[in-house]
Amino acid sequence: MTELARRTGAVNLGQGVPELPSPPGLLEEVAGAVRAGSNQYPPAAGFPALREAVAGHQRRRYGLEYRPQDEVLVTTGATEALASALLALCDPGDEVIAFDPVYDAYPAGARFAGARLVPVPLAEDGDGFVLDADALRAAVTPRTRVLLLNTPHNPTGKVFTEAELAVVAGLCVEHGLTVVTDEVYEHLVYDEGVHRPLAALPGMRERTLVISSAGKTFNVTGWKVGWVCGPAPLVAAVAAAKQFLTYASGTPYQEALARALGGVEAWAAELRGTLRRNRDLLSEGLSRAGLRPLRAEAGYFLQADVRAWGYTDGVRFCRELPLRAGVVAIPTSAFQLYPDAPSHFVRFSFCKREESVLAAVEKLLKAA
Ligand SMILES: *Cc1c(COP(=O)(O)O)cnc(C)c1O
Repeated sequence: MTELARRTGAVNLGQGVPELPSPPGLLEEVAGAVRAGSNQYPPAAGFPALREAVAGHQRRRYGLEYRPQDEVLVTTGATEALASALLALCDPGDEVIAFDPVYDAYPAGARFAGARLVPVPLAEDGDGFVLDADALRAAVTPRTRVLLLNTPHNPTGKVFTEAELAVVAGLCVEHGLTVVTDEVYEHLVYDEGVHRPLAALPGMRERTLVISSAGKTFNVTGWKVGWVCGPAPLVAAVAAAKQFLTYASGTPYQEALARALGGVEAWAAELRGTLRRNRDLLSEGLSRAGLRPLRAEAGYFLQADVRAWGYTDGVRFCRELPLRAGVVAIPTSAFQLYPDAPSHFVRFSFCKREESVLAAVEKLLKAA
């Protein structure tokens, strides 16, 4: 789709690559660290100052205590943390449960480990999605090894509620499941929503690996600095896999982020304001163009229902949209593994400059 956008000169609301600025001080810090010679391998577990900053962040925001020495591991983005966690936890034949639509790295990560991803569909509920507790319960088998929870969720923009988290936690405790959470959008929850890590619920800290990353929070997706927090034995297992994937990376970025993470709240509040405005502009524009938008409580993306434009298939809609309207979107089916999943949703990203969002809206209205 990105290639199609380039070829047709369409406004690209496909990929979730931010067009938004990063904190200027953070960029200066990286430049300074490079010039000062921070260009060799960092410690395998990550810079101690960054591990301390991550531990401080988890304590301050969520009341979760992690020892920086052995319960925090810095990774090459959330992606490597996810892959390492699945390699560490799963044996061939194991099953990994995740909510569908699923981020594409999850089934790939499960396959690396010889395991299989079992998709559990989220249920449609008006203009959004809710947990289907029965579907979740039905997906657990004796082979289930890991439950992977992404909240805030990509691509739906759903934030799991306290009640939903309690259902998930109860099931994980009951069946002795190990949990991996992907919380890369933790700072991008809009309106009155709150992000709560599953690890903060009773009985969960000891069985949960919490993954996050700097990419989405600071608009630095190309830096690939992520981290994982959890009980020492689980983190050690992740570290053992990670050691032979990248060993370690991003020395100057790690140094700079160690300082930035302490002040993340002020930065994130400003970024949320920008993204929420974009979301509202795009959502209103999609509505006016007849493409019913779903609610996006968090993150970078809005789903829209394409049926009013005469399509039943989001793939065909996305192939034709660049020519018909000069806009690029991605079919939600790219993230759906569940066989009966609806095919009429597409995903638009709004992590773009306001001009890009407005240009896309104008083009959609013209083509409607
Ligand atoms: C972007 C994204 C990631 C990847 O994070 P990196 O730190 O860039 O590796 C992981 N999970 C979800 C849900 C994402 O949207």
